[in-house]
Amino acid sequence: MTQWEVVIGLEIHAQVTTQSKLFCSCSTQFGSTPNTQVCPVCTGMPGALPVLNRTVLDKAITLGLATHCTINEHNEFARKNYFYPDLPKGYQISQLDKPICSLGYLDVEVDGSTRRIGLTRIHMEEDAGKLVHQGSDNIKGATHSLVDLNRSSVPLVEIVSEPDIRSAKEAKAYMESMAQIVRWLGVCDGNLEEGSLRCDANISLRPKGTETLGTKTEVKNLNSFKSVERAILLEIERQTDILDEGGTIIQETRHYNEATNSTKSLRSKEEAHDYRYFPDPDLVPIAIDRAWVSRIEQTLPELPTARHKRYQTELGLSDYDAGKMTVDRETGDFFEATLSLGSSAKEIANWLNGDISAWLKEHSSTLAICKLTPAHLAEMLKELINGTISGKIAKQLVDDMLETGTHPSTLIKEKGLAQVNDTGAINQMIDIVLSENPKAVEDLKAGKVQTMGFIVGQVMRKSQGKANPDQVNKRLKELFSLS
Ligand SMILES: [Zn+2]
Repeated sequence: MTQWEVVIGLEIHAQVTTQSKLFCSCSTQFGSTPNTQVCPVCTGMPGALPVLNRTVLDKAITLGLATHCTINEHNEFARKNYFYPDLPKGYQISQLDKPICSLGYLDVEVDGSTRRIGLTRIHMEEDAGKLVHQGSDNIKGATHSLVDLNRSSVPLVEIVSEPDIRSAKEAKAYMESMAQIVRWLGVCDGNLEEGSLRCDANISLRPKGTETLGTKTEVKNLNSFKSVERAILLEIERQTDILDEGGTIIQETRHYNEATNSTKSLRSKEEAHDYRYFPDPDLVPIAIDRAWVSRIEQTLPELPTARHKRYQTELGLSDYDAGKMTVDRETGDFFEATLSLGSSAKEIANWLNGDISAWLKEHSSTLAICKLTPAHLAEMLKELINGTISGKIAKQLVDDMLETGTHPSTLIKEKGLAQVNDTGAINQMIDIVLSENPKAVEDLKAGKVQTMGFIVGQVMRKSQGKANPDQVNKRLKELFSLS
């Protein structure tokens, strides 16, 4: 039987983070009352003229540079003509053969090895409005539909990959990596739930060892990383079955349903010429000079992959920790700021990955909005390392700092949390605990080392976590001649 090779290309639509829309000053705020963020331009009124939002151009260039694209100094907008009720102009303003960026790549880590995925182009375009179907979830069965144009003309960049992806897993890794980069650069907020990042997949099969591309289908509505992987797996299976039985693949667009994990045919796939693209006469071609691009190039931050590698080679972090510390820009910057105050990389990573991340998750918060600062974390770590506080108290402090934003030394002083290192005080507590637990004393005398943990625990409890556990251990060993 023929062995099939999977060929996948992804088109990712990312909403560009801006205050206003692509060609007018209407707000891009998500979730507002329908049709309150509209004007003659984004509703396609006759005579209204679009003016390009420069921020979108800057952000598209930023993304292009970060993904090794050529920035096309001459690029232009084109009209993509089609009719749908959510598109009042009857055309979408997009870019076709003269996009802002072309021919880049993204290196993606899959199962410990690096795969280079080529980028055909990145272009700017406007979003369409939204249909709200009444009486049903979808258009079939709806009694009528309402049009909300708040989203009409919201700026997007479409990132089109080469057909370089070879499995569903790779596709998911590529999408995750792209999401991380657009968020890192501030190009897009990466919010999949609000539709800021959407993906369509072009999938085809060909006999292993051949070069000619097979007929592809396009699967739409992939709104989560999981959907990307699951929908592609389904489509590979569907195409394999057809080809194995000697059938042919029909070029079509299929819709993925996340709830039922199934795809169904939407329409036979249209070609670019069906849209009668032509240069938009209302918008002048864009001319970008080198100095403009250089200016943006100079503000480009160190990218997550580079940082990930640096944390491993320069700071000795594990692959896991380095990945966690570069998961997003705010974590990376928080980590760096704490590091610059003299804390150890491993200690910071442990606390950020452990107690801090658990607290943030529980309180639906993030490092950017919580009250903990790098200075406070660094100070707490210093007190922990020099023995002023115990590990147990440190955990309590982290919670308090996150909750109230109070400086750790203030908390230590106010709540009397300093670790008890005074030998006299510790010995006294041990004596009390031993007198309360005669059975344990017998066991210790008989050399049952495991009983020591129980006694240490009791002493820690009596001291409300403040006794230095090392000293308690040492004293008990002396008392009962244990090793
Ligand atoms: Zn508008």
